[in-house]
Order: sequence, then C-alpha cells, then structure tokens
Amino acid sequence: MRFSDITGHRQTIDALRRMADTGQIPHALLLAGQPGIGKMLLARAFAQYVHCTARTGGDSCGRCPSCRQHAGLNHPDMHFIYPVFKKDSSKPTLSSDFSDKWKIFMEEHPYMETEAWPEALGAENKQPIIYKDDSAEILRVASMSAFSSDTKIFLIWQPEKMNAEAANKLLKILEEPFPDTIFILVSNAPGLILPTIFSRTSRVNVPRPTDEEITELLISGGMSTEEARQTAWLAEGNVARAIAQSHSSGERAEFGEIFRTLMRKAYMRDAAGLKGLTEEIAAMKREKTRRFLSYACGMVRENFIYNFHISQLNRMTPEETQFSSRFAPFIHIGNVEKMEREISRAETDIARNANAKIVLFDMSVKLMSALRIPSG
Ligand SMILES: [Zn+2]
Repeated sequence: MRFSDITGHRQTIDALRRMADTGQIPHALLLAGQPGIGKMLLARAFAQYVHCTARTGGDSCGRCPSCRQHAGLNHPDMHFIYPVFKKDSSKPTLSSDFSDKWKIFMEEHPYMETEAWPEALGAENKQPIIYKDDSAEILRVASMSAFSSDTKIFLIWQPEKMNAEAANKLLKILEEPFPDTIFILVSNAPGLILPTIFSRTSRVNVPRPTDEEITELLISGGMSTEEARQTAWLAEGNVARAIAQSHSSGERAEFGEIFRTLMRKAYMRDAAGLKGLTEEIAAMKREKTRRFLSYACGMVRENFIYNFHISQLNRMTPEETQFSSRFAPFIHIGNVEKMEREISRAETDIARNANAKIVLFDMSVKLMSALRIPSG
C-alpha cells in the first residue's frame, strides 16, 4: 500500500510523511475517525513508508524487498493485532491464529467494513475481542530485535476491543517503550479506549473523505456517474459502506420496503401483522438484521429532520423521500428519541445473541405506542 494508492486524505498523508521524514515518529500513534473511511489504508501505507529502503517522491518505492513484503502482507517486522474470538479455552488466543482470514479480509475489504469482520472470522454471532495473550505476544516480540528492518511496527486495529487484561498489559508496554518499536492504533471509537492508554498516544484525527472523493472512487470501480454520486451522498463519508452498497445496491431498496411496512403496521396497531413482519426480519442472517436496524434507526432520524423542510439536511433516496412526505409528521420531538433508543437497543440485544424474534416483536410494540404519542 503506497500513499498514492489512497483516494483523498492528503492532509493526513502529509502529516504522517512529515513524521517519518523528520524521524519524529511517536512511539504510539493513534489514528482515530469514523468507521469505513480508510484509516487502515493510511496506517498500512505509513508502515510501508517507514520500512521502505528507497523512498521516492514522498512515497514508498513499491519495489524494494520491504515494499514487496508489505504488498504481500508478510513483512517480518509488521505485526497486526485485531479482535478475534476464543476457539479453545485451554489455549492462548492470538490474532495471528486467524492471519489467513485476516489477510483475505484486508484484500477484500480495504476500507475495513467493521460489521463484516465477525462473519469473515466465521463467528457471526460472536463479538470478537483482543485477548491478553496478544499483549503477552507483543511484549515477547517487542523485546527481540527487528528481523529485516530497523523498526518493529505493531498495528492494532480497534484497540477499543481490548479486554481489560489485554489493555492493562499493553499499558505496561507503552509506559516503558522499547527502542525501535512503533505502535499504530487504528480506532473507530477512541472514547472507548482505556484512558491511561489513550493518554500515552499521539492522536491524529482522520477526517471523513468528501462526497466528491468517494464518487470518484466508485466511478473508478465501474459505477455510473449518476449512481456513484447518489451512493456517495448516502454513505455519509463511510467508504466501506458505499462499496458494500455498490455490491448490493438492492439491499437499501429492500430495507426501505420493510421499514415502510413496519411503520405502517405500527401506526395501524396491527399487532398480528407486526408479529409476522418481525418474524421475517428475525429470519434474516443476524448481520443483515443488524444492518436493517441501523438503517431503520437512520430513517427515523431522517423523517424527523424532514419536518424542518431543509432538503440538504436529508440523505434519502427518491422513494424514501416520497414516503417521508406523508409519514414525517408522525415523528417529532416527543417520540424521536424513544424510537431511536428502542431500535438501537434491539440492535444491541441481537448483537449479544438475544432471541431476535422476541426482541424485534417487543421493539415493534414499543414503536407502536411511541407513534401514538401526540406531537407537542
Ligand atoms: Zn520500497
């Protein structure tokens, strides 16, 4: 991965390049920003730049042995740590046990579609975390000398997913930094990182790419200009989502249909209809159910915002907008938060493996009563 392979992010790239060029790389660098914007691409390009033996024109060369190893995701001084699940409680659980799946995932999802990782791990119903064994492994590797370069790099994806033991062990390592060792933490939720770790990192906030940059990227992937514009605009900076959407552009239309039916039945107090519908939603793959709920939550907010009649505040397709033109008045200051809360809670419960049928029907009953709260 070279800097020039990355769409947008010019300012962040300049900042990273300057650190390496001046030899002032912090020993723990935190790249923070919303999910799906390309933080891992930046981290990987930065690592390759640090290791490159023939930097040229402000970028890694792409040809030296080190760059080739980076391209093959097998540089011996580049260590990836990421959330996984425990296969066998009697053995240590290390990220590297899953390295084959990890490499495929990074190839297929360069923008790191976070929601797709559990499925890629073959653990759709589990919440992957970073275990303490990985921190012990970091300590072991960090205390040895580098193999083929003069810098060992540990790239930790989603440090917010460390369990307490792992975080405390890592903290000890960050408190007494090893020479020639760099940590790059790539986080979607820096607020969830243990504060003592957070305070030992140098934070770089990565802004979301612009709609124009995402449009350009989608067009280069073969999408028509019109569709690319629409997809980029709906993605709100989340490139991973835009790309996933381009692969399954039918899903949003399908979710839209279900959302509208759900709202109609809830408003009509059609409990039997809601039971049938929520059973259909529960029968989807768990990750898809969660994607639907996150869509539904977004739509509730969109409908609330629609009432202000400021079109540039809304991010909806023409079909969704048409529905809002009639439905939006039913979502107002008196029920918007309750509805969002109920939907998010259902999503969290389902992520935690609760019975989806029960959770969703319960949610639909709460939405039914929320929709009857009079406005003002
Ligand atoms: Zn090189």
